[in-house]
Amino acid sequence: MRRCAARRPQWEVAGWYRLVVVRQVAPLNSGASSGSVPVASDLMSDTASPDPELFDKIVNLSKRRGFVFQSAEIYGGFRSTYDYGPLGVLLLRNVKDAWWRSMVQERHDVVGLDASILSPPQVWQASGHLANFSDPLVDCTNCNARHRLDKLDDPNVCPSCGATGSFTEAREFNLMFKTHAGPVTETAAEVYLRPETAQGMFINFANVLNTSRKKPPFGIAQIGKSFRNEITPGNFVFRTREFEQMEMEFFVPPAESQQWYEYWCQARMDWYLDLGMSPDKLMLRAHDEDELSHYSSGTSDVEYLFPWGWDELEGIANRGDFDLTQHANASGEKLDFFDQANNERYVPHVIEPAAGATRTAMAFLMDAYDEETVNDDTRTVLRLDPRLAPYKVAVLPLSKKDTLTPTALEVFDSIKGRWMTDYDETQSIGKRYARQDEVGTPYCVTIDFDTLEDRAVTVRERDSRAQERISLDQLEAYLAERLR
Ligand code: ATP
Repeated sequence: MRRCAARRPQWEVAGWYRLVVVRQVAPLNSGASSGSVPVASDLMSDTASPDPELFDKIVNLSKRRGFVFQSAEIYGGFRSTYDYGPLGVLLLRNVKDAWWRSMVQERHDVVGLDASILSPPQVWQASGHLANFSDPLVDCTNCNARHRLDKLDDPNVCPSCGATGSFTEAREFNLMFKTHAGPVTETAAEVYLRPETAQGMFINFANVLNTSRKKPPFGIAQIGKSFRNEITPGNFVFRTREFEQMEMEFFVPPAESQQWYEYWCQARMDWYLDLGMSPDKLMLRAHDEDELSHYSSGTSDVEYLFPWGWDELEGIANRGDFDLTQHANASGEKLDFFDQANNERYVPHVIEPAAGATRTAMAFLMDAYDEETVNDDTRTVLRLDPRLAPYKVAVLPLSKKDTLTPTALEVFDSIKGRWMTDYDETQSIGKRYARQDEVGTPYCVTIDFDTLEDRAVTVRERDSRAQERISLDQLEAYLAERLR
């Protein structure tokens, strides 16, 4: 969680692995959460240790099976930008859909927004990004490599060449991408690509309040691209210069802000756990006092145990009235709420759960990756929750014979409207099962020569590899029971 905060460098943060135990707060509305947040003793268990080898396996799988490609690869690749292939686009979309479902669709107190990516300097002046959205940049005088000082294991040692004491003084590097609107490249035409989606919600606060008939506590949610000129992008899609965020600003009466902050910490942890993320690889880390931005009375990061160690998936912050006040002062517009019941006017406080969609999709991919030995062979299986799996079903005619194709296509047509379904008729059935396991398809439906006689198919389940014969007229109901 950066967001214009004067941050304390990571290497100084005592108790980096410290866990905050979020109290279960009384549900304030129908979207009440359940489940529990892992506590420190869970975190310290031996089962949770990073798996460095997993990183290469995921990068290879992503390229080989069409999850993620290096951008502009045919021109040698454009560093730190990635294209999502046929399977990646489905996984990413499923992650975003799951977030939207839980944050907007299933709540009566949150509405959606899709704000523009380009915006004028006034927005970023008021938000503080022009002055403060920067990272400390150091140059190594020995090898000329550039590093982000706050992300170095040792602030005196260059990780590129190993030299000690070779860094220049740190200077603040603003991360925003600037461009020009229209044909004239003069200062007056300067605009910025948003480095976060959040400001779109703040500057539309009055618009949404006046049109949606909502009143605090209520939220505005948005999913979209953000752009940061990161000094050191890396770790595959973990840190890129162009990425997608899933952010929600929840506007509350000031007296309720702590309660709602705790509520959202819990609700966001529950979201990851409900979608199958391993509890021992997930934690909520409360920021220390001196990590907090001056306006925040509480911030916690949801962290995942990546192959390189614990790192952030999402930040949840109690931002007070900072953002609305800043924009009200700068724009001259009233960004407050008149509470008729109590006859008082106040600036709502904001609780912000801010997650990365691309980063989270990669974390789910890593978490789902599994290898097991079956008949002396290694089976790779992505144990993705069916809601996240790119394909829910694969339709596989046993052979490519013309006799089976019409029935196989009939099966495909009967389910394609309801679930994302793959159709594959080449190679042996064993190889096709393996291909589907490797990309996480929960069910394979095989059409064989008996199908032509008995109008039944074999359904194979991904995790157990168990097979069942199901009559065609029962197939949709069978799948519907198992695929949420
Ligand atoms: P970090 O400390 O990793 O740079 P941040 O604290 O700056 O992240 P926020 O400003 O809180 O991140 O943004 C919310 C979320 O957006 C992050 O938790 C992360 O999931 C995602 N995110 C931020 N920057 C990037 C990036 N460069 N690439 C991919 N995802 C990102």
